[in-house]
Formats: sequence, structure tokens, C-alpha cells
Amino acid sequence: MTIASTSPDTILHEVFGYSAFRGAQAEIVEHVIGGGDALVLMPTGGGKSLCYQVPAIARHRGGSGVALVVSPLIALMHDQVGALEEAGVHASFLNSSLTPDEAQRIEREMMGGRLIMLYVAPERLTTPRFLAQLDSLHERGLLSLFAIDEAHCVSQWGHDFREDYLQLNVLHERYPGVPRVALTATADDLTRADIIQRLQLEDARIFISSFDRPNIRYAVVEKTEPRQQLLRFIQDEHEGDAGIVYCQSRKKVDETAQWLNDSGISALPYHAGLDANVRKRHQDRFLREEGIVMVATIAFGMGIDKPDVRFVGHLDLPKNIEAYYQETGRAGRDGQPADAWMAYGLADVVNQRRMIDESPANEEFKRNQRGKLDALLTLAEAHDCRRVRLLAYFGEASERCAAYQNACDNCQNPPATWDATEAARKALSCIYRFHQHGGQRYGAGHLIDVLRGKVTEKVEQRNHQSLSTFGIGADVSEAQWRVVLRQLIALGYLQSEGEYNTLELTGTAREVLRGEVQMLLREPSEAAKRTRGTRTGGKASSSRSRDKAPPLPLDDQGLERFAALKAWRAEVASEHNLPAYVVFHDATLAEMAQAQPDSMDALAQISGVGAKKLEAYGREILRVLGM
Ligand code: ADP
Ligand code: ZN
Repeated sequence: MTIASTSPDTILHEVFGYSAFRGAQAEIVEHVIGGGDALVLMPTGGGKSLCYQVPAIARHRGGSGVALVVSPLIALMHDQVGALEEAGVHASFLNSSLTPDEAQRIEREMMGGRLIMLYVAPERLTTPRFLAQLDSLHERGLLSLFAIDEAHCVSQWGHDFREDYLQLNVLHERYPGVPRVALTATADDLTRADIIQRLQLEDARIFISSFDRPNIRYAVVEKTEPRQQLLRFIQDEHEGDAGIVYCQSRKKVDETAQWLNDSGISALPYHAGLDANVRKRHQDRFLREEGIVMVATIAFGMGIDKPDVRFVGHLDLPKNIEAYYQETGRAGRDGQPADAWMAYGLADVVNQRRMIDESPANEEFKRNQRGKLDALLTLAEAHDCRRVRLLAYFGEASERCAAYQNACDNCQNPPATWDATEAARKALSCIYRFHQHGGQRYGAGHLIDVLRGKVTEKVEQRNHQSLSTFGIGADVSEAQWRVVLRQLIALGYLQSEGEYNTLELTGTAREVLRGEVQMLLREPSEAAKRTRGTRTGGKASSSRSRDKAPPLPLDDQGLERFAALKAWRAEVASEHNLPAYVVFHDATLAEMAQAQPDSMDALAQISGVGAKKLEAYGREILRVLGM
């Protein structure tokens, strides 16, 4: 028998079947194998897992025993471990889903130092009983490393704070010589500083990767008829694809999922109000079946590593850019083209602002939240490259993405802009006149009527035809006015309040009134102009279950081989109770269908085919390929 190599390149090739490390992976892996601590900031889909999995394997082979992987996601441990076992890596998890017998067996594997990786939730890791077990491992030199996944959970500034993560500082105090690698896709300065301080990573090397996800196309559309817009987007560009659609409320999740189903799209709801069993069942179906659209609140998604999610849609505005980027980042982990699509309108701005205003948090926290919301609104309103703005938010300078294959909407179709400086002044002075004329406040609808000189019942009742601002904005369309008002709220010159969303000037409105603020706005899209107020009652198309396109161009025979491989994979996956992508990614199957390897050696050259999978499935695959 050959002695297993501890070289990272060999492990990458032999265990995972990949030919080269990506970006900073090689450096990180080297550093951690050498015993160093690391903080790894990489976008979702960047390849964080290998940054601790390869070191865990190398150190285990070097005699250092078990690596502990701390993950907040109990529900996903089964599949994560399944993926490792498929690759021939002896791994396991400990969580509340196990029977006492199973748990005991795994503990024995751990205490014997035979396990390579053990996944645990932080609350279990920090129990006195578990720490005592770790002490024993440590004394015998069998504690190889700690990987702390989703490390931003330790920070109150982040959006996924978990109390249990705070206890993890015990690891450094108790096992100072054991390397720790903390990983996250959330990178703003405040959260980063928090992670370092709370996990005592002051001496860790920090690895920051580019946050660009070149295969994701970002698009923001003006919300007119959100469901119809979503349906059209899915039907036109993603029929038969797996996707995630985020909504703010549970009710909207349920309604949207139902509505998509009625329109012939397989959709499932997911939110914290559903029974845990239902949630688990829906998550499993999303992971295991093809072409399911998950309609969810933000309760869904962390740790979901399904590689072929082809789109992420937002029917409501997320809280901030970090959340938006993390949610959209769940699309296209396999590097194949994917879409981040969001519908956004005036009501979103108003809602998000109100949620912050009405939250019980302290003023400092609210100010921070408002600042973050503003940054997101600026992104939504942008008429230049969205990618440049996203990356700039994460401190990264970049060129506009027009040259990308999957350029953002604004680069693909640069929107027309118009100078709204004068219109903005008119709107604000009209609100000022309302104030002088009876001191009442009004919402956007009435304001726009007055500006456009429309004589409505309300206008007559309030005698608003007599205002000097009546009709001064007739040249600006209603759709344009909505953009102006949205922008004024987004930029903080206007405030929307109360049950009726009445508009009020803020302290900074004066700058606009004095003409000191230049406003260049995007023209509302044709759709926004057309459909506002005139529901078109779109007809739901019937379900056409179309096969998903393979990630590589294949001829007809290639497509047949691809389909045969997928059918074979589905059987294996269901036998092993694992998602299909854990067996092989689509890209790997497509490469097989294209290259038609005719021997085990040729098959081993395909990306994603490691030694264990070759041994377990090689002959079968050659048979399916007819070789
Ligand atoms: P993250 O945890 O950062 O979101 P993952 O670790 O899940 O990302 O990796 C994303 C995808 O990229 C996975 O499907 C993984 O198999 C693949 N991947 C990661 N590193 C490499 C590599 N060096 N070569 C080929 N594929 C890779
Ligand atoms: Zn762009």
C-alpha cells in the first residue's frame, strides 16, 4: 500500500478530482497546514470549504487526528458529511438528529483519532462534556484544527448573530497550539473587526479574495406588478431551473409560492412559521429534486451549497448590501451563468425605513442600519454599472462589467437618464406649500396629482388648485414622479410617515430647494410607464417541463449521454439518500458526455472525479457511456 500523500496538490487532485486551486486557496491551505491561524473572506461560491478540508486531510495524514468544523447549520450537516464520504474522506457530524447509539459510535471514532473531520454546532462544542473529550484528544496530539464556518455569526453587526458563537473564544484559550481557520462571506469592516476580536484572531493571517462573482448577472427592475414580473422572468429565462425567491413576510411567501404553482412553476414555501418537519421536507426537495423554486424569507439559505441554483429573485428589498450579496451569492456556485433579479419600488423604501424607525434598537444601531439601507437604495437606483457599485461597497475598485459575458443590466442596456433637479425642487416646494396651506401632510398619490394639475375630488376638497405649485409638474409623467419621490426618500430629503405614508420634508430638504443638489435619474422603464395602475391580468402559461440545458454545448448524441448520466446519478443519489450534486456536479457529467472517456484513466482526467469516486462509479459510468 502506498503511504497517503500530505501534499495539498495531490490531495486536491486525488480526493476532489480538481486540477488546480482557485485564487487564494493554495496559500490559505499551505498556511493552515503549517499550523497558522487564518481568517478567510471569500464570496459565496468562492470555494471556502476546500480551505479547511484539504488542511484537515493533510494534517490527519500527518498524524494529527481530527479536525472540528463548527457550523451553525445542523440541518445541512448530513449532506456536507455525505459529500465528504462520497469523496472517501472519513467524516461525521454530531447533532441532535442522531440516536444515542449513533452518537456514541461517532464519539468513539473521534476519540480514536480515526475521523478526519467532525461537524458540530457551537452549542455542543462548548459543553463541558465535549470540551473534556477535546482535552483528551489534545493531550494525545489528536486535535488537528478548528474550522469556524459562517464566522460572521459571532458579530452583532452581522445579520446572523448567534449567541453560541461567542463561546468559541474558549478554543484559543484552551488549545492555543491548534490552528484555527475562520471563514465567512460577509466582509464589511465592522463585522471583520468583530470576528477578529471575539474569536481572538489577532495573530491570524487575513485572506481577502475578490468579491466579484463574474458568472452572476445583476438586474433590478421597477416594481409594477411584482408577481407577473417574476413569472415572466422565470418563464422567459429560467423555465425548469432551480431558483430562490426572497420575500419579506411569511404571508407573502405562502401566497407567492401558491401563485407560482398555479402558474405552472414548481414552487415550495419556506419560512420560520412552518412546522420544522415541513421546512426540512421542503429543503430536502429543493436540494434533491431538479427545477424547484424555493420561495422563502431570509430564514432560508445559509449554508445551502446546492451548486446549480440558476437564479435568486427578490420581491422585496433586503435589509442592506451584505444581505443582498449573500442571498444573491447562492446563485451559480458552480460557476455557470446565473441571475440575481430584484423588483423594487417606492413602497420598499418606505417599508424598510419604517422598520428601522420602529425597531426597539438604540439610536446608534438605527443610524448604522439607515446608512446601510441608503447604500442599498443607491445601488437599486443606480444607472451605471451595478457590479462596480457592489464591489466598491466591499472596498474593491473595478471596471464596469460591460465586457463580461454576464454583464449587469445597466451595462447590457444603459438606461436613459434625465435631469430631475428641477422636478425635485418642485416636489419639495409643493410639500412646503401643503404645510403652509393648512399644515396637513399627504401621500405620494395626492402630491403627484397636484404637481400634474389633476383636479380630483380630494384636490377640490382641499382647494389645492389654488396652490402656486398646482400643475407645475405636468411635463413630468406619473412614473417619473414616482422615481423622483423614491429617490428623495432614498437620499433622506423626504420622510414618509404613519399609516398613510404621508410625506414630510427633512432638515436637509433645504439643500434641494436651494438647487444645491443635482439629480440625474434613470428614466422609468417602458414597463413601469405602461403598467402602473393598468393591471394587465396576465394569463398564466401552462407548465412546460423543459429539460435544463447542460453547462457545456453538446450535440444531440452528447445530450443523450448527458441525460443517461443524469438518470444514473439520480438512482445513486436516491440510494445514498443524498442530493444528486453530491455524487457529481452537472458540469462533471457534461464533461463526461462531451469527452466520452473510454477508460478508467481517461475518466480520471475529468474535473470532479477523484480516486474514490472513480473506484466506486468508474465502471458504471463507462457502461452508461456505452464504452
Ligand atoms: P463557498 O463555501 O465559498 O460558498 P464552496 O466551498 O461550496 O464555496 O465551493 C463552491 C463550488 O466550487 C463547489 O462546488 C466546489 O466543489 C467548487 N470548487 C471549489 N474549489 C475548487 C477548485 N479549486 N477547483 C474546482 N472546483 C472548485
Ligand atoms: Zn455592469
